[in-house]
Amino acid sequence: MRIEIDKDLCCGAGTCVLLAPDVFDQNDEDGTVILLDATPGAEQRAAVEEAVVRCPTAVISIM
Ligand code: SF4
Repeated sequence: MRIEIDKDLCCGAGTCVLLAPDVFDQNDEDGTVILLDATPGAEQRAAVEEAVVRCPTAVISIM
């Protein structure tokens, strides 16, 4: 699994961080997403898929 994010459209809601904290973090200054692990293991797949669905700006993609 490989993750791509369009950071320009991230609104900093933080939903992804709550769902998959080993994969996503937030910038301390503006709250925008930081991708900690662009190629997480299969054990993260369910959490990442949930983040894809719940991201309010739909900027997370699984390739
Ligand atoms: S859930 Fe989406 S909008 Fe919110 S911080 Fe994560 S990538 Fe950005």
